Amino acid sequence: MKNFTKIINPGKVQYSNGKFPTFCKIEYKDGKLSITGVEAPDIHGNCKGSCGQINPIKLDVFSDGWDEEVLTVFSIIWDKYHLNELHAECEHQAILGWTYDTHVGKNCPICGYIIGSEWKSIIVPEWAVEYLYNLPDTKITPTWV
Ligand SMILES: [Zn+2]
Repeated sequence: MKNFTKIINPGKVQYSNGKFPTFCKIEYKDGKLSITGVEAPDIHGNCKGSCGQINPIKLDVFSDGWDEEVLTVFSIIWDKYHLNELHAECEHQAILGWTYDTHVGKNCPICGYIIGSEWKSIIVPEWAVEYLYNLPDTKITPTWV
């Protein structure tokens, strides 16, 4: 899969003065995935909601091409593969559900790796990269994302 960057607009969130769009930026480069988002960005570089790791996204209205199922798959890919090159845990510790916070300094019972002693990469599966690539591009241009 080749590198790509895209901006998506899954939908809008209701605020006191109306509904405002949420945007996400997906960057896939040399096998590395990064996803960030912003809720209701304004022209001053601020936003009404949160920005950065806003997953799981809360929406009141879906954009064309988006629904609960698409959003759920996107959310799972984001949760599992964002910063896939920067994992503290080995593949076994990942299966065991260990995190750096819960098991700092502990050896893996299978391979002996000490959690957090280096950065481990996990591969983003082809289907997930394809899924992200095929998400509908935003029809409106955000002031920033
Ligand atoms: Zn291990």
